[in-house]
Amino acid sequence: SSKIRIAIAGYGNLGRGVESALACTPDMELVAVFTRRDPAGLVLQSGGVPVHAMARIEDFVDAVDVLILCGGSKTDLPEQGPALAALFNTVDSFDTHAKVPEYFAAVDAAARGGKRVAVISVGWDPGLFSINRLYGEAVLPDGASYTFWGKGLSQGHSDALRRVPGVQGAVQYTIPSQAAIERVRSGSRPSLTTREKHTRECHVVLEAGADPSAVEQAILTMPDYFADYDTKVNFISAEALRRDHAAMPHGGFVIRSGTTGVASSQIMEFGLKLDSNPEFTSSVLVAYARAAFRLGQQGEVGARTVFDIAPGLLSPKSAAELRKELL
Ligand code: NAP
Repeated sequence: SSKIRIAIAGYGNLGRGVESALACTPDMELVAVFTRRDPAGLVLQSGGVPVHAMARIEDFVDAVDVLILCGGSKTDLPEQGPALAALFNTVDSFDTHAKVPEYFAAVDAAARGGKRVAVISVGWDPGLFSINRLYGEAVLPDGASYTFWGKGLSQGHSDALRRVPGVQGAVQYTIPSQAAIERVRSGSRPSLTTREKHTRECHVVLEAGADPSAVEQAILTMPDYFADYDTKVNFISAEALRRDHAAMPHGGFVIRSGTTGVASSQIMEFGLKLDSNPEFTSSVLVAYARAAFRLGQQGEVGARTVFDIAPGLLSPKSAAELRKELL
């Protein structure tokens, strides 16, 4: 067939999101899912797509145009990213910002060795937010950039809550300060402290017999995660946690506040309001898979980030159609 053949490596939230995003892309088809777990134990949303053991993935190098890596950034991608970029054109959502340079270097070497294209750190942050930070700085060099996150569920902070003794279950929402956003939008270019930009809201289920005030103190004073923020802790039932906090909403704003000419205030703003962080991230991954395929066809090799990919390559429309319809 003439469709771009996509496979998924790792079937968690992003894997399921890629599967559903592909249902809206007539120029691509899902040909396989690879997992480290027992393939027979995975139930896909769509019928007819085979699930294979990750250990057999080398058998499929000629059957897949782009492999979308859906593993976690902490331990999966540092290993899977370089290993799989040696075999396939890949796209991933590596989001440990501080480790992007070393991850890029490892994936780049592997992709060059295998003559493949690997687009790393795709999604919304890093990803679409990064592009908007770049546009802001490039267009308004006299200015300041601001990124606000939320309201959204933070996986890392929720994990930190669950490690507190006496906590049975928990979720944490990061909430941007409306007052801080309005100050930025006014063009006054404020210097904002960590505490002024975001607050943290925790919903915690206690273990039987746990002391609520001890748990609350442990949370409020936790360094790095909560100590530098105004944090609110709510105690809820296990039933309420399941019922009201199962979704994974997120979003935020990238704002550039700059000055041009003598004193013209210029504000650039990009915002996202997401019911499902993983489904949105996966939708971005799928659009970049199209670009990775095209770059591969042009004979390009090595790692790329969102900064290196021309926007037109993301669209199923031709350059001529884009000039006519969107320019
Ligand atoms: P996840 O659901 O935990 O899945 C990660 C991996 O864990 C899967 O690939 C899967 O691999 C394995 N897994 C999934 N469910 C499992 C289960 N029930 N039991 C055992 N193993 C299971 O993670 P995710 O929510 O998809 O997120 C993946 C990464 O995306 C995150 O680490 C984050 O860094 C990144 N992310 C980036 C952005 C961005 O904007 N750039 C946004 C959101 C997320 P196997 O199938 O091989 O077992």
